[in-house]
Amino acid sequence: MNIIFLGPPGAGKGTQAQKICSALNIPQISTGDILRRAMKEGTETGLKAKSFIDAGQLVPDEVIIDIVKERLAMDDCRQGYILDGFPRTVPQAEALDTFAAIDCVIELDVKDEVLVERLSGRRVCVKCGATYHLSMLNGKTTCDVCGEELIQRNDDKAETVLNRLKVYHDQTAPLIGYYENKGLLKKVDGAQGLENTFAAIMKTLGAQA
Ligand code: ADP
Ligand code: ADP
Ligand code: ZN
Repeated sequence: MNIIFLGPPGAGKGTQAQKICSALNIPQISTGDILRRAMKEGTETGLKAKSFIDAGQLVPDEVIIDIVKERLAMDDCRQGYILDGFPRTVPQAEALDTFAAIDCVIELDVKDEVLVERLSGRRVCVKCGATYHLSMLNGKTTCDVCGEELIQRNDDKAETVLNRLKVYHDQTAPLIGYYENKGLLKKVDGAQGLENTFAAIMKTLGAQA
C-alpha cells in the first residue's frame, strides 16, 4: 500500500511511520530526515535547504519534488511505502499524482497546544535520528538504539516552532481537503498514547486492505 502521513509538526508522523513501516515491512520515506542528512553531509541540496529549515519555512517545491520522485523509483518501494512529511503543499501533491498512485492518506490530528509541548520536549539522536520526548527519558541523554548523544533540533526551539505551525496551517492544511475530495483521507486522533494511536492507524489501514 502507498500511504501518506499528513499532519502538523509534532503530530507523531515520524514515530508512527516507523512503527507501521516495521509492522508492514515497507520503507519510511521522511523528507525531513533526507534533508537533515543532506545538511550534515554538506551536499548541494543540504546547503540549499538549510536556511529554509532553520527559519521554519518549507524548502522550495522544486528542490523536494525531484528527491521524492527519485526515491520512489527505487526497488524497495515496489511493495508500498509511507511518505512522512511529503507532500506539504498543493503543488507537491499535484506533482506526486503524476508519478505515484496513493492508496490512503492518514491525517494525524493533534491540537496546537499539545504540539508545542511535544516539539519543545523532542530530542533526537545525532547519529541515527531516533526520536524521544523528555518526558520519556527520565534524565537519560543517550540513544537506546546506538548509544550516541541526544540533542534538540534547531528548528524545535520555541521561536521557530510557532512559525512552523503557521506554515502548516497556511500551506499544508489545504491538503486535507485535497485528499478528502479524492476519497483517500482517513482521520486518526493523534492525541492518544503511542500504542493506541498505533492500533488506530493499523485498524484504519486494515479496514482498507
Ligand atoms: P512529527 O514527525 O509529526 O513531527 P514526532 O513523531 O517526531 O512528530 O513526534 C514529536 C514528539 O512527540 C516526539 O518527542 C515524540 O516522542 C512525541 N510523541 C509522538 N507521539 C506521541 C504520542 N502519541 N503521545 C505523546 N508524545 C508523542
Ligand atoms: P516536522 O517535525 O515538522 O514534521 P520534518 O522533519 O518533517 O519536521 O521537516 C523539517 C523541515 O524540513 C521542515 O520544517 C521543512 O523546512 C523541511 N521539509 C521537510 N519536508 C518538506 C517538504 N515536503 N516540503 C518542503 N519542506 C520540507
Ligand atoms: Zn541513535
